[in-house]
Amino acid sequence: METSNFIKTIIKEDLDSGKHKEIITRFPPEPNGYLHIGHAKSIVINFGLADDFNGRTNLRFDDTNPLKEDQEYVDSIKEDVKWLGFEWEELRFASDYFDEMYDRAVLLINKGLAYVDDLTADEIREYRGTLTEPGKESPFRNRSIEENLDLFARMRGGEFENGQKVLRAKIDMGSPNINLRDPVIYRVSHAHHHNTGDKWCIYPMYAFAHPLEDAIEGVTHSLCTTEFEDQRPLYNWVVEQCEMASKPQQIEFGRLGLTNTVMSKRKLKQLVDEGFVDGWDDPRMPTISGLRRKGYTPEAIREFVKETGISKGSGVVDSAMLEHFVREDLKLKAPRTMGVLRPLKVVIKNYPEGQVEMLDAEINPENPEMGIRQIPFSREIYIEQDDFMENPPNKYFRLFPGNEVRLKHAYFIKCEDVIKDESGNVVEIHCTYDPETKSGTGFTGRKVKGTLHWVEASQAIPAEFRLYEPLILDNTVDEEESENKTFLDYVNESSLEKIKGFIEPNMAEIKAHDKFQFFRHGYFNVDPKDSNPAHIVFNQIVSLKSSFKL
Ligand code: ATP
Ligand code: MG
Repeated sequence: METSNFIKTIIKEDLDSGKHKEIITRFPPEPNGYLHIGHAKSIVINFGLADDFNGRTNLRFDDTNPLKEDQEYVDSIKEDVKWLGFEWEELRFASDYFDEMYDRAVLLINKGLAYVDDLTADEIREYRGTLTEPGKESPFRNRSIEENLDLFARMRGGEFENGQKVLRAKIDMGSPNINLRDPVIYRVSHAHHHNTGDKWCIYPMYAFAHPLEDAIEGVTHSLCTTEFEDQRPLYNWVVEQCEMASKPQQIEFGRLGLTNTVMSKRKLKQLVDEGFVDGWDDPRMPTISGLRRKGYTPEAIREFVKETGISKGSGVVDSAMLEHFVREDLKLKAPRTMGVLRPLKVVIKNYPEGQVEMLDAEINPENPEMGIRQIPFSREIYIEQDDFMENPPNKYFRLFPGNEVRLKHAYFIKCEDVIKDESGNVVEIHCTYDPETKSGTGFTGRKVKGTLHWVEASQAIPAEFRLYEPLILDNTVDEEESENKTFLDYVNESSLEKIKGFIEPNMAEIKAHDKFQFFRHGYFNVDPKDSNPAHIVFNQIVSLKSSFKL
């Protein structure tokens, strides 16, 4: 279904009026971390709108802060954008434009619109004023153009220490918009850059670099999140005063947030660096790589993001909505199977010893084209520990002494004896089965209320199951941090549980990223890192049920 939104409306008007013949957007991540689901929103919006109007989208790395950036992040971002299903027109780096940016800064100096300042960072902050008080002019504000040109060249030449001098735009220290109070546009930073090496020891600030990058690439609509709204006047000032031929239009939309997680690279990096998780791609992380490893599909993420819509307001969306979309996507695609996560041995006393029969089971009853699989059945099987109770409460329909249940795809079994060890723990259940009740034969003699999943014991393949809970035990911690509490105070200590169980023998050949729906346990993904044929590991993607309704 085609939906409209305010950005689409603007773009359509710009095309109809002839302001632009073709639209160009860009996705501009800073390579200082892995992408998260919030970035997926920006990706879907930028690439999606360009697609809608036959335009183009560049992937551009905003790499103006070498201390925080890294090739590892560049590589992961490229992988994630491709995996999400998007193709960029051109791959660009802000650092490709450092020469041009330098020239534009010189142009500003020549126009009397930029000056070198000797104030320290703290002094600059102090002089900047507040929302209610105007700023104060720096004593260095009125240096001559010649002096500024000389000092800026010497900044570039490496004569000054980090922080000793900056270049500032000369705009208006009395502006009600603090961003216009002579923002810093270049700083000294003796740092090795992943792309330009040691060529530069001064780097442009984001607020100066970003509009130039957009203009250089001919971006028509520069879409960003609403925290940049107050910077729009500066964005336009830079484009105008630097005399850029192309005049991109900045349009802001609301950030995406999710309950029970944090969504900022800085915080996610902290979780990685301080060992709360096992890397950026830990399945508990809201990163694209974490979601992929957990078992999310690009389709599910794209559909989720589209459903959250585009508006000016930023919204914290219930994680259950994200889960809803992966269930929807996997429902028809994922083969059904049975896995026992916490095994309890059942011996079927009247089943012939040594006999194994093969039973037919549909691979996906909702998608019959997927065909039939075969599962062995014999005298010994495993069922789930909590599918048996010696002294059940009312309305417990699973196995208990004297009760009869259905084994999915197999027979009815009846519990006859409970075998315990010396300390009284149940170690084995002895049952009888009724050959008349074989599944698929149309048996209607009597009914049972419980259906249990199981696996045949002698051929069952051991497997590890990893179950996840939310990483953060708070709905909106991203917004609620205070001096006394940070998001780290809300980290869920038991967000990962690893258990050892069994799966059907027909799954011996499974490989990384294969996805299954385990009867009653939900959807699982074969872990791409830790799983191997000798030690199969599944990540639970999502359980079967959710309270979430669209
Ligand atoms: P973070 O605060 O997580 O580090 P960022 O905004 O600093 O995010 P960038 O690498 O600058 O990260 O982001 C690239 C693009 O993705 C930007 O245009 C940014 O506005 C957008 N973006 C980042 N986070 C979100 C989000 N939660 N929802 C929507 N868009 C986002
Ligand atoms: Mg950032």
